[in-house]
Amino acid sequence: MTKSKETGWNFDNSYARLPKLFFTSMNPDPVQSPRLIIFNKEVAESLGLNVEALQSEEGVKVFAGNRIPEGTMPLAQAYAGHQFGHFNMLGDGRAVLLGEQISPEDLKVDIQLKGAGRTPYSRGGDGRAALGPMLREYIISEAMHALHIPTTRSLAVVTTGESIIRETELPGAILTRVAASHLRVGTFQYAAKWGGVEELRVLADYALARHYPDVEVDGNKYLSLLEEVIKCQAGLIAKWQLVGFIHGVMNTDNMTISGETIDYGPCAFMDVYDPATVFSSIDVQGRYAYGNQPVIAGWNLARFAETLLPLLHDNIEEAVKLAQDKISGFNQLYESNWLAGMRAKLGIFNEETEDESLMNDLLNMMKKYQADYTNTFRACTFDKLEDTVLFGTEEFTEWYDRWISRLDRQEQSKADSQQLMRNNNPAIIPRNHRVEEALTAAVEQSDFRVMERLLDVLSNPYAYSSEQDEYTTLPESTTPYQTFCGT
Ligand code: AMP
Ligand code: MG
Ligand code: MG
Repeated sequence: MTKSKETGWNFDNSYARLPKLFFTSMNPDPVQSPRLIIFNKEVAESLGLNVEALQSEEGVKVFAGNRIPEGTMPLAQAYAGHQFGHFNMLGDGRAVLLGEQISPEDLKVDIQLKGAGRTPYSRGGDGRAALGPMLREYIISEAMHALHIPTTRSLAVVTTGESIIRETELPGAILTRVAASHLRVGTFQYAAKWGGVEELRVLADYALARHYPDVEVDGNKYLSLLEEVIKCQAGLIAKWQLVGFIHGVMNTDNMTISGETIDYGPCAFMDVYDPATVFSSIDVQGRYAYGNQPVIAGWNLARFAETLLPLLHDNIEEAVKLAQDKISGFNQLYESNWLAGMRAKLGIFNEETEDESLMNDLLNMMKKYQADYTNTFRACTFDKLEDTVLFGTEEFTEWYDRWISRLDRQEQSKADSQQLMRNNNPAIIPRNHRVEEALTAAVEQSDFRVMERLLDVLSNPYAYSSEQDEYTTLPESTTPYQTFCGT
């Protein structure tokens, strides 16, 4: 480990000590003329980095891949994955891991440059990324963090001074991604398919040590690993559902072992409540629709469990039994996380069996009357039931009376309920038209003020101030929003 006093970079390279099977050592491909577009001071400071030094000309070179900080061992990771249900050999096709920054609190996080050039895993791709999608990842991952949802974060975005070719010519960019790690379900699939049991074991031990060091080991630590990942993912997916986040490409390579949200490609937030909502242009079957996310998470976790079978028991039938037992617990865990979160959204502190139908009746009405998911909960929080078709219906009035009687049946006061609701119903989500507006100004006019203001508002989603009101309105356009992968 070499700590630079000047910049604060303090790298370890534990991933590079794994068997060679798991990566290819290589440097990022330097770019013509890097320019810092956005820099995350809060993240930098939390990582013990020097905010001034990193924004200097020399500092920025690191984010462009033009300077390799001391102590790093750059590499591209190998992984596999089920993409829309089909198994493929993948790997970092346009990302290079510099190493793991050790924070002053002794946390270890991956520092990865996304868009850093071709790698042995690039297949037909150019290894590069465009400015718009990298800023989009920056905005949405920061919004997720502010919504208290585990996520990778963004330290910086630089433009490269080079164009990349997609449907048109676009400005090239690199995002510096910060993650608890980049271990994925797909990393285990890769190990299971192309490694031996020993390599699989090394990977599982590494994941345990890095993410679940305190896990109770009741004689079978790999079963504990499976259980912990299932628990974290059940919590994560419930959080997505509760804020209306649609990931868009829940392939097994985009599901982390740490429980962080990763890969902000075609994701977007739902406006009008509808479980069938899909934004991604390529998801024609709706595999990754909002309402399908919990099912897909369970499916992905089953693929994870399969990779661990050789470690779970010497007898394969016993191993399958152990794995199945854990996997079958996922739905229940997810449901209880979701129910707890939805109770909080409705200001409910205790549990009654009727709660679930109270929730589902509201959601069904939201769908029927095309109500905005976020704004409906916000209106209920402040008892400002105006301006929408839903609130004018008799159906809703009946539901409302049931809800108020439900609140009356608990000890807590109305004020307590409202506080609970305020803490759980964000006013602000990254509305698609607002994100697009910020990206257009940034990419087409090099005007970054719209994005900076948006980021500022997104950083405080539960604050409820009137100056945020303009960020709570729905788009005027009725054209369905579409998102795209791989730019
Ligand atoms: P994703 O759908 O974002 O999870 O990406 C799937 C795979 O495609 C990953 O292995 C990426 O590294 C790879 N990939 C995406 N874009 C590019 C690109 N421009 N060049 C090379 N590989 C890419
Ligand atoms: Mg991916
Ligand atoms: Mg992606």
